[in-house]
Amino acid sequence: MGPLLTATMLLLAGGFFSFTMLRRVAPLLALRRVNRLDHPGERLAGLLRFGIGQRRMLDPEEIRPGLMHVVIFAAFLVLALRTITLFGMGFAEGFHLPLLAPASPFGRAYGLAKDVMVLGALAAAVGFLWRRLVSKPDRVTLSWEGNVILGFIAGLMVTDMMFDGAGMLAAGEPSSWWAPAGSLAASAYSGLGLSAGAVSVLGLGGFWVHLAIVLAFGNLLPYGKHFHIITALLNVYLRALPPGAAALRKLDLESEAADYGAQSMSDLSWKEALDVYSCTECGRCQTHCPTYVTGKPLSHKEVNRAIKHHLIEEAPRLVALSRARDPAAREAAAAELPALASIVPPETFWACTTCGWCETACPVLIENIPRLIDLRRRKVLVDSEFPDEVARVFKGIETQGNPWGIGSNRRTEWCEDLALPRASDGQGFEYLFFVGCAGAFDDRQKKVSRAIVRILREAGVSFAILGEEETCNGEAARRLGNEYLYQTQAAATVEKLNGYGVKKVLVQCPHCLNTIQNELPQFGGHYEVVHHTQLVAQLVAAGRLRPGRAPVLDGQAVTFHDPCYLARHNGVNQAPREALASAGIQLSEMPRNRRQGFCCGAGGGRMWLEEKLGTRVNHSRVEEAAATLGESGGVVAVGCPFCMTMLRDGVNETGREDKIRVLDVAEIVASSLGEQGPPTRSSPADVEAPPTAARRS
Ligand code: SF4
Ligand code: SF4
Repeated sequence: MGPLLTATMLLLAGGFFSFTMLRRVAPLLALRRVNRLDHPGERLAGLLRFGIGQRRMLDPEEIRPGLMHVVIFAAFLVLALRTITLFGMGFAEGFHLPLLAPASPFGRAYGLAKDVMVLGALAAAVGFLWRRLVSKPDRVTLSWEGNVILGFIAGLMVTDMMFDGAGMLAAGEPSSWWAPAGSLAASAYSGLGLSAGAVSVLGLGGFWVHLAIVLAFGNLLPYGKHFHIITALLNVYLRALPPGAAALRKLDLESEAADYGAQSMSDLSWKEALDVYSCTECGRCQTHCPTYVTGKPLSHKEVNRAIKHHLIEEAPRLVALSRARDPAAREAAAAELPALASIVPPETFWACTTCGWCETACPVLIENIPRLIDLRRRKVLVDSEFPDEVARVFKGIETQGNPWGIGSNRRTEWCEDLALPRASDGQGFEYLFFVGCAGAFDDRQKKVSRAIVRILREAGVSFAILGEEETCNGEAARRLGNEYLYQTQAAATVEKLNGYGVKKVLVQCPHCLNTIQNELPQFGGHYEVVHHTQLVAQLVAAGRLRPGRAPVLDGQAVTFHDPCYLARHNGVNQAPREALASAGIQLSEMPRNRRQGFCCGAGGGRMWLEEKLGTRVNHSRVEEAAATLGESGGVVAVGCPFCMTMLRDGVNETGREDKIRVLDVAEIVASSLGEQGPPTRSSPADVEAPPTAARRS
């Protein structure tokens, strides 16, 4: 139809696209290397599920925009063949792809699918424009770029119809079942009473404008948030396995090229750069981010946008840096790069609870949390700049092996009267019960530790504790940026566990579970780790534990608060419910539960930090629990010492101590076994003076 024009358009657009892409890819090649080509089968499965299958777009909470996005994505896939065909027709009018001759069965089937997608994508583009221009939901960034892209998408669909409709009229076939969109255009031409010449001009105009939009569209993508159309599938394929937040990367603190986190852009990896290129700015990451929704200055949408602009700005310097051979020149060039903390300020990266909601919600599987931790690491390890409260936590772990800094010789006070077997007894055991710092030192959590022992003994489980040999595994230190302290604690823990030949570890804290299961392998510690709620569910299923009704509940309604490091980071959400069901409990579920649970505010070391900005996260969760339990109140069941503290604080601080109690699943199950259970509603231990952040620290 115009070989010269088609070739010229392709050359110009292709040349400019290549120029832009080289500038986008060059800094990626200059950044820290990470291997993301392992486990191809698992990666492919994730690509099919999250990329091609658009799994995270179909969130019931926002099903309408999700469906519209799925329709546009499907239209892009189906229309890819049509685009090739149209460019082919630019060179030779009757061009068609093999098997897709217009009158052939395959050609007609494809034509039908294509036209259905054209109509669907047109409707979706109009729907999205309506959202941006009229309904304007909070999470959407209302930039001009979004409107232009939607205009392009609508334009592509309309011009496709214009071309097809004109062709159908010229062929004397104004309507057909395999071309519903073309038939619509043909009937519009007829309805307007246009002459054959005018229809031909409109058809031809549709053809060339369509090609021009395709090329302009492709060239515009790398300049804005729609770059994700090019990078998203790649980003999904190259995701962290397992998710980076569950197992933070181990810093090399020993070698000459020691790594102390992120000072400047040059300390990020190429994958982190691909992440920011892939951010769609959809805002799903902030919908239930406990930090964002309670008014703290943390939005990954904004963080990613800021880092992306910074990356593009600094690309020439990054490339020059990677080419400098002389170490002194490299160092000098690196020192010239602006600090990343000037792009992502400390109040942003210290605010995160590492709860993982943002990563669970992100449709393109961006790893947001490790970047924030790397910023903390640099501040702690090199600049010694961190909140005052953090210093006490580090000192406590360093000197006494627990974040509270309570004398390490008091670690077994909670079980002095229980005559518990020690690993050092040399008697052999199935489970090493890793009690954890809270289980050993926090007065409220000590009761949970005792309830677990009650359950283990009732079911005849063979176990032992480390006793005074146990020390903090360093989870909080790592997430607060002190990788040096973490590595010391982790190595000591592995040495102890391996020294006793431990195979199975029982924990009551999801943070311990995450560290021992996902991070200690970095230090040579490989164990089967179970949370106490999992073990209870297993023991009940095996008939070794037969809970009855739990008197501690006093007939009250019960809801369960999913700990982020159990349900979200490690996928354990059914076991606690099974454990509670075994005691005859029918849960009232909070709206945000299981993997979509809402954080209590304590993760990421935030347990020990003051919450000075916005409203309190734990208050927000307690409000949700209170609304679920209703007027007469009830029990919030938990499975994490941090959740226990935060929710009890929240209950007390919102004046609900007479109505709501917070009990661990273990306490409820132990109570159902007939032993004198944990404190009842009126017991002083459960309504003591409101614990504050000071008590926590
Ligand atoms: S990080 Fe993910 S969820 Fe957040 S705005 Fe970007 S694409 Fe959306
Ligand atoms: S991990 Fe949680 S607190 Fe941190 S940014 Fe993501 S959703 Fe917000």
